[in-house]
Amino acid sequence: MAVRSEYVTRAREQIANVLQRERRFLSAAEIHHLLEAGGAKVALSTVYRNLEHLQSKGELTARTEGDGETRYMPCEPEHHHHHAICSTCGRVEDVDCSAIEQFTESLRESSGFALDGHAMEFFGKCRQCQ
Ligand SMILES: [Zn+2]
Ligand SMILES: [Zn+2]
Ligand SMILES: [Zn+2]
Repeated sequence: MAVRSEYVTRAREQIANVLQRERRFLSAAEIHHLLEAGGAKVALSTVYRNLEHLQSKGELTARTEGDGETRYMPCEPEHHHHHAICSTCGRVEDVDCSAIEQFTESLRESSGFALDGHAMEFFGKCRQCQ
């Protein structure tokens, strides 16, 4: 039993490490591939289970892309912010929201429209890819 729980903890750590290091949206299969490339032996089903667990704890954000694959990123969705996504390498930077809050105010003043919320992603090139 001790061996089993050690495996579970280690797998969770390794998955979290890959996500922190990559800072881009990754599918379970892509994470599994990166773990294998790094010499870690973690079953794909374990990757899926841990991603669900981390997401339920609010440590990951998920998005489903055009190919139907769900990809995950370390993020705190409760803390409102936006993402700037590099179109070359996929790296994700958190973007502060204050400028957008100002826009919300000016929209109310100019058109009388009151926004309840917004969702926005920014695309471009990260520092390394410029
Ligand atoms: Zn984020
Ligand atoms: Zn980049
Ligand atoms: Zn915002």
